[in-house]
Amino acid sequence: MTENTAPANGSSIMVVGGGISGLTTALEAAEVGYEVFLVEKNPYLGGRVAQLNQYFPKLCPPTCGLEINFRRIKDNPKVKVFTLAEVEKVEGTAGNYTVSLKLKPRFVNENCTCCGDCTEACQTEIDSPFDFEMQKIKGAHLPFEMAFPARFIIHPSVKDTAEDARRVKDACKYDAVDFDMEAKTIDLQVGSIVWATGWELYDANKIDNLGFGLYPNIITNMMMERMAAPNGPTKGQILRPSDKKAPGSVAFVQCAGSRDENHLPYCSYICCMASLKQATYVRERYPEAKIYIFYIDMRAPGLRYEKFYQTIKEDQNIFFVKGKVAEVSDAGAGKVTVVAENAVTGEKIHQTVDMAVLATGMQPTAANAKLPADLQYTEDGFVINDFDKGGMYAAGCANKPLDVVTSNQNATGVALKAIQTLVNK
Ligand SMILES: Cc1cc2nc3c(=O)[nH]c(=O)nc-3n(C[C@H](O)[C@H](O)[C@H](O)COP(=O)(O)OP(=O)(O)OC[C@H]3O[C@@H](n4cnc5c(N)ncnc54)[C@H](O)[C@@H]3O)c2cc1C
Repeated sequence: MTENTAPANGSSIMVVGGGISGLTTALEAAEVGYEVFLVEKNPYLGGRVAQLNQYFPKLCPPTCGLEINFRRIKDNPKVKVFTLAEVEKVEGTAGNYTVSLKLKPRFVNENCTCCGDCTEACQTEIDSPFDFEMQKIKGAHLPFEMAFPARFIIHPSVKDTAEDARRVKDACKYDAVDFDMEAKTIDLQVGSIVWATGWELYDANKIDNLGFGLYPNIITNMMMERMAAPNGPTKGQILRPSDKKAPGSVAFVQCAGSRDENHLPYCSYICCMASLKQATYVRERYPEAKIYIFYIDMRAPGLRYEKFYQTIKEDQNIFFVKGKVAEVSDAGAGKVTVVAENAVTGEKIHQTVDMAVLATGMQPTAANAKLPADLQYTEDGFVINDFDKGGMYAAGCANKPLDVVTSNQNATGVALKAIQTLVNK
């Protein structure tokens, strides 16, 4: 791997987005000999998967999949990684693109040994974007302990506070802090471009009836992932945000904004599996806790996921209620009430619980900000692959909602398409 130093080469592939899909496309292409520029806007690779506590269905930590890919990248000089980088402009045609990349400064150079002295010295605090702002972190920090590249980053607000900037710089024994770094733009020549820009969680604040943002004990599924993660804001404990108490009951609200014409009209493919997985997080920590899963249809695609669902169904403390949730409201003392009509019995249900988790869907990144290239999108912002035109392709969740396994398969196929553009040039 080479970082942020790249010669221009017209027969290269650019992969935009360093999540599991982008990593896969980049590695599959590089390992058959093609030069790849991997462009990631975050200071680290791994995308959303890095934020998960465990993967379904095996329930292993995300590091088990990501680390192998990081090792492959490290060992492969054909992959040039650009972090803190975004595409500004794409010009040209299939086989012959000029891409302008904007690179933001990290304020930490390659001398960094990850000793952490800068964090100790730093007094500026910022909301942790990695933890969905559930905790404050120091302005000088490592994004998370397995971050790749393994290098600290300093938030621009530290530089703006002269005294703190001096403290942080003085604390570094390796001369790794460099506040002279500036944003810059570079141009690269590539033959094909793969957009693996992934997804963002649908904004739960937009779903008026489900109480998110009004009551602290209504959280999203991704907040639950961070809470359950040992490196998260609660160090792996699942606690009610309002009083940090262990919940005795938790409700999962499926299709929170999904399959709903007012929000996301589609099924995000993974939310049912994510809630089934998260039910195990709660049960592991609190063997007495009761869990209520409210769903429209339970979707567990394929045999493996079906088996996972069947195992969860056997748990006597997990109750499945078929019915679309009409409302989640305050029940006093930090509790919330989930209101739904049971589609099987017709009964109106008011289930009061300590905490509710909204199974919010995945929205393509491009739904909120279109990509700076000549691409076509579905109404919901997923990039449409035009294989006849060629040259630019979308992989993984930029193209459709997928789990990790199918993201990998999709991204491998797209690597081949990107290579074909170069070969047929
Ligand atoms: C609550 C929840 C739990 C889940 N749990 C599981 C699970 O247990 N098992 C499973 O298989 N799947 C799970 N998933 C699904 C999984 O997260 C996705 O399959 C996976 O993230 C798809 O990877 P991706 O690379 O396509 O997208 P992402 O992970 O979103 O990666 C995209 C990358 O592109 C970068 N990027 C975006 N825009 C730009 C840009 N303009 N320029 C440069 N970089 C950019 C992003 O920063 C990011 O690093 C879960 C999803 C949710 C919502």
